[in-house]
Amino acid sequence: MLTGQQYLDSLNDGRKIYLRGELVDNVATHPAFRPTIEDAAAGYDRYFQPGEDATAPYYAVSRSVEDLRELEEVQLTWDMLSTSTATGINALMTAASRMRGDLPEYADRAMKWLEDAKKRDIRCVQTITDAKGDRSLSAGKQDDPDAYVRIVERRSDGVVIRGAKLHITSAAVAHELLVMPTKRMKPGEEDYAITCAVPVNAPGVKIVNVSYAPPAEHDWREYPASALIGTTEGFVIFDDVFVPTERVFLDGQTEHSADFAHSLGLWERLGSLGHYVELADTIVGLAQLISEANGTTKIPHIKEKISGLIVYATMLRASLEAAISGAMFTPEGWATPNELYTNAAKFYAASEYANVIRDLHDIGGGSTLTAPALADLENPETGSLVAKYMTAMPGVSAEQRIRLFHAIRDFTADGVGAWQLVTMLQAGGGLYAQRVVATKHYDMEHARTLGFKVAGITAP
Ligand SMILES: Cc1cc2nc3c(=O)[nH]c(=O)nc-3n(C[C@H](O)[C@H](O)[C@H](O)COP(=O)(O)OP(=O)(O)OC[C@H]3O[C@@H](n4cnc5c(N)ncnc54)[C@H](O)[C@@H]3O)c2cc1C
Repeated sequence: MLTGQQYLDSLNDGRKIYLRGELVDNVATHPAFRPTIEDAAAGYDRYFQPGEDATAPYYAVSRSVEDLRELEEVQLTWDMLSTSTATGINALMTAASRMRGDLPEYADRAMKWLEDAKKRDIRCVQTITDAKGDRSLSAGKQDDPDAYVRIVERRSDGVVIRGAKLHITSAAVAHELLVMPTKRMKPGEEDYAITCAVPVNAPGVKIVNVSYAPPAEHDWREYPASALIGTTEGFVIFDDVFVPTERVFLDGQTEHSADFAHSLGLWERLGSLGHYVELADTIVGLAQLISEANGTTKIPHIKEKISGLIVYATMLRASLEAAISGAMFTPEGWATPNELYTNAAKFYAASEYANVIRDLHDIGGGSTLTAPALADLENPETGSLVAKYMTAMPGVSAEQRIRLFHAIRDFTADGVGAWQLVTMLQAGGGLYAQRVVATKHYDMEHARTLGFKVAGITAP
């Protein structure tokens, strides 16, 4: 296994990482990547054990409902890069299981790479979302054939790929990119049915980064949530990248291209659901604390809104439990989340989130956005006046109330909060994708039978 320091050293490997128009010399020492990297290095140190056989828990396989539940719980304490690694690995295993019957050679290759990745103790990211060009056209019908990542050359020892994958969380600080087709490819689109593992420093890989971190000049006390959670999103370009055969897990079999997107969607959505349960409880807590600080706890519409938030948080917790306890099992005995409950729950969490935030902002009031900085409280000229007018209730200091406002703004409308708002909808696929999968797994026959029964019609 690697230590945190060995992880940091491993990132200085010639990778081509860009940020705001500049090539980054070394991501491990660049301030924009520091929060993610420090978290990931701490994740390495937390589980480090010497010895040949030691492996990180991110590579553990769930074989029971209890394992799955334990994974969900412990994941909440992991850094984003390690969580992404675990999700990608589970997705690859699930997809390998689904294609094993038809493509045993590819399934074996994927499992061999996984064993090797575990030994090397690397971190990888899920690299699936293509640039996609015109959304109304499929991969093979685009004006620019590179709108979806594709094979541009097949050689005796591997393939050359070209294209771009967008919004790839933590790509710049990972070791490998797990490249998968974004959706089902059709006959004739064989060059787009490509799954493979590509080292971040492979020649031809360029990653343009976007960061939602607070501006360079800031006081972290005004960004308490962003100080805890943060990463960069990578715009990953494959400019004719050679991938050796042993790293290719699908090459042209369009009928299996969706196995990867579906498997990844399932694991990604379960992982985010666990996170959303905690997020929803945090929102309830912030709403309650700010109403106590504002003196509004007894006002009927505030009480009603807080109880609405409680119902949201509880529904998420209950559906996470259903997604885990209704686990499905692969022929190998690996536990996977329940497709119907996971997708329906992720859809509900995401589609209601904007309303939940609306209620929190309504409960908080305008200072959610305009509360003065703590530095204004410390300024001898303004401090006592800011304190006087920011105090609302006995027992709650002006500083405490200001900190709560900053936390609500940062957690829901700025910094990491702005990221969360869009991520909730898009990461793991948009709302439409979850609706499609939920519909596919819903017991429609049972519903039809009930419909006939209540209508007094004998089912044909
Ligand atoms: C912060 C963040 C992190 C992310 N992390 C990752 C990551 O680590 N790895 C990764 O691979 N991806 C990641 N994603 C990408 C995410 O999965 C996509 O954003 C999502 O699938 C939507 O794709 P898109 O952004 O291209 O939007 P679009 O596909 O353009 O979608 C926009 C809207 O159009 C609809 N739409 C588009 N085409 C169709 C169609 N043919 N039929 C029906 N409706 C359609 C969509 O449903 C949606 O409502 C991340 C996204 C975000 C915002």
